[in-house]
Amino acid sequence: MQGNLLLKIQVDAMFDTLEIPNTLAAGPGPGNTDPQVLASFTRCGVADHMQADVLRGMREAKFMLRELFGTQNTYTFGVGGTGWSGIDCMMSAVLPGDKVVAFVNGTFSGIDDLAIRMRASSRADLAASPDNPKPANVITINVAHGESVTGAVIEAALAEHQPKWAIMTHWETGSGRINDIEGFSRACEQHGVMGLVDAVSSLGVADFAIDDYPGVAAWASCPQKGVLCLPLTYAPVSFTAQYIASLKASGCYSYVHHPILEARHWGIIDGQDSDTAVYHRTHSGYAIAAFHEALRILLNYGRAQKAADYCFYEYVLREAVETMGCKVTSNMSSLVVLNLPADFAGREQELVKRCRAEGFGIWPTLSAPVQIRIGILNQLNNTAITEIISRFGDALEAMGVPLNKAKVMAQLDQRLTIKMAA
Ligand SMILES: *Cc1c(COP(=O)(O)O)cnc(C)c1O
Repeated sequence: MQGNLLLKIQVDAMFDTLEIPNTLAAGPGPGNTDPQVLASFTRCGVADHMQADVLRGMREAKFMLRELFGTQNTYTFGVGGTGWSGIDCMMSAVLPGDKVVAFVNGTFSGIDDLAIRMRASSRADLAASPDNPKPANVITINVAHGESVTGAVIEAALAEHQPKWAIMTHWETGSGRINDIEGFSRACEQHGVMGLVDAVSSLGVADFAIDDYPGVAAWASCPQKGVLCLPLTYAPVSFTAQYIASLKASGCYSYVHHPILEARHWGIIDGQDSDTAVYHRTHSGYAIAAFHEALRILLNYGRAQKAADYCFYEYVLREAVETMGCKVTSNMSSLVVLNLPADFAGREQELVKRCRAEGFGIWPTLSAPVQIRIGILNQLNNTAITEIISRFGDALEAMGVPLNKAKVMAQLDQRLTIKMAA
């Protein structure tokens, strides 16, 4: 008793209760989670992973995911974790020695490339460079930061190398660039390649249907960007019948991220939808409740409407930062990636640090060159966009950038008035 009391006093003294403040999430992700999603998470009762409503939630989430992805792929479900968990599951069928072409134009496609090099490495490749293996069977095609991967680059690489797999990021969040998904799909079809796509930052933001890209055999996204659920809930993935047949024939070196085995818990058994579920691993009722609600909100909003709203708000944000003298190099609709005015080049980290310290969560780029990233995930309303632009203007002014903030805000008001009238 005495001992326990002493321990409690010591723990309280050393580790205060953790309080995490609310910040303005204006980065590339995680996005600004809807209060309804948080409410469904906290409302969830204590229930295990085979309880009937949890399983019903999983089955319904699977159907909603097919709608969101725009697909008839039966093997469409969520992988517990974040974007890299979904991507790891997507790469499960890539085996040591498989020939792969990987396209890289920024931080995340760079990590996709690393992850697939690890998958395709032999033991000798791994031993030679354990945390950055360079197997000869993986060909990396580098495209400059700030540029998109074009159909011509993809076609040339696949024609030359004739790989089994090709991997590309749909929207490269590191440099804010959209890559040519149509060209990728076409080249994969043309050369009999199975395409893998990292759609972590495009799903739920762009209006596209994956079934329009038959050369892509598997897609992976994340919970906390366009889908607007909480991190560490579920990363959406979708596999074509061709991928599943290939995996069925080859097998893979993963139990937990084995797409065929994992899908069983979501009621996908032997390629068919089933009302029953087979235990794969312990799922979380909390995560399912939140994921289900996030998908409901997204489908209610409508994929096309959401994409249109992102385009509008990205346009006004881009225009505002350009009026403030910054140069935008991105073309994604959920994010602007910018350079500071020439006289202030090199002070990006300082500016971002100052904003973050005040709870204004913008980001620098994570790989060179250093740029600033301002995101608008779920900030699709006039109040939110006004606050983001105003706070960024204040931060620039505090650093000494000469700008006419009143003019910027008046221009913004004008744009928002036009939207309200439309
Ligand atoms: C954010 C992101 C990832 C990584 O996702 P996590 O959720 O952090 O695991 C991978 N690819 C792209 C394109 C991303 O934007």
